[in-house]
This record gives sequence, structure tokens and C-alpha cells, in this order.
Amino acid sequence: MPLVIHTIPAFQDNYLWLFHQAGQRAAFVVDPGDAQPVLNCLKEHDLELAGILITHHHPDHTGGIKALVASNDVPVYGPDSANIPQISHRLYEGDCINLADTQFSVLEIPGHTLDHIAFTASPEGETPLVFCGDTLFAAGCGRLFEGSAEQMYQSLQKLSALPDTTRIYCAHEYTLSNLAFATVVEPSNQALQHKLAADEKKRQQGLPTVPTTLAIERETNPFLRCHLAALALAASQHSARELSNPIEVLREIRLWKDTF
Ligand code: ZN
Ligand code: FE
Repeated sequence: MPLVIHTIPAFQDNYLWLFHQAGQRAAFVVDPGDAQPVLNCLKEHDLELAGILITHHHPDHTGGIKALVASNDVPVYGPDSANIPQISHRLYEGDCINLADTQFSVLEIPGHTLDHIAFTASPEGETPLVFCGDTLFAAGCGRLFEGSAEQMYQSLQKLSALPDTTRIYCAHEYTLSNLAFATVVEPSNQALQHKLAADEKKRQQGLPTVPTTLAIERETNPFLRCHLAALALAASQHSARELSNPIEVLREIRLWKDTF
């Protein structure tokens, strides 16, 4: 039976993900920043909330926990973070949890925040997937609010070590603005031009551009391409000094994007 994953848009540009095993009512929600759209989705699909997964402490990912656990006494899985008192099951690198008949394992991916984790799974007979919150986005990465460029680099390396076919369920629809920046950094990247055209079409039709895949991100995401000469050159030109270390390249590109 396939794992069914519903896309729940919330706020301006958040995606909350709700998953369940086909034919089963027990459903799990990832990063419920808001409770009402989750309750609506459960009702619409006749599902029952069985657990909550949290990637990091920001309110647009945690704001709905309180209301959801008030009406459903369910476990809350998340990082060991003083900022999220509602977590009932604190998770660390390499921990495994079985949800919706699917084995999820935990990656610690600090950078955007220090408490950031991701949940990866390889559902039977399907391509792998990862819920990666605000660390890796389609054509971008999260802002460095708490961690260093080096931590973000190592975290992206960790995600990048997943299989090419991995579906990337990130928590925001930032794709078009990320692509606008990426095409300035890498103007001659053909794959980037193709993705931009395809994703513009999706957004015009009101469709999400997420999930993306790791294979696509390797070709188009500047933050996964910091080891390449083209990126080192762009970062060097922007900072007016010679950068070759991929961590320094990432730091420069992230700073550049912050003010883009
Ligand atoms: Zn965040
Ligand atoms: Fe967020």
C-alpha cells in the first residue's frame, strides 16, 4: 500500500504535510504551524490524527501543536529543543520511529536553527522521501538564523547523501524567488532555465512546485553546488575576493541571497 501524502498550504507560503497509509485512517502531520487547516484536511479525507512531527522550533512550524493535542491526545516527535515544550518524544541523529507502517529515521541538520532535524523514509516499493523543514528548499536553503555556514554546509551534505530519487518535502513554496536568484548566480545553467519555465507554469496553474527531487536539486540548487567551479567563480566575483572552499562559497552565496 502506498504512503499517501497530502499537501496542506498554510499562511503565505508554508506547506504542512499530512501522511497516512492508503486504506488506513491514522494520519501524521509534519510541522503544523496552524491547526485549522490540518483539522480541515483530516475531516475532508476522513482521517484521524495519530501523531505530530516537528522539524524545528519556529512558530510557523509549531504554532498549531497546542490546539491539535488539546483535541487529539497524540505523541509529538521532534528535536531536543527547549523552545518546544510540547515535544513528547525527543529525537536524535539515527533514531528510528515507525509511523503509518513506515520506518522513518532522523537526521540532525543544524544551520537554519540549531535544533533542526529531518525525517527520512524509504517506503516499500516507492522512491525515498525526506521531510526537511526549512533546511533544503527547491533551489534554495534556509536562512542562517542560528547556525553557521559550516553547519549548513554539513547538513546539506548529509541530505545530499540520500539517493538521487529522494523526494524533497520542504516546508515553504519559495521556489520561484529561489530560482530567480539561482539564475543570477548561474546564468548559463540550462537545467535551471528548464526548471524555471516548468515551475512558472505550475504556479500559474496554482500548483505546488514541491516536492522536488534530489536529482533535480543537484542540478539546480546553488547551495548543493558550492563545490563546483561555476559557483566558486560567481561567489568570488560577488565578494571581490578569491573563494574556493565550498563552505566559504556557501557563506557568500547565502549572504548574497539575504539581500537579493
Ligand atoms: Zn524556520
Ligand atoms: Fe518556516
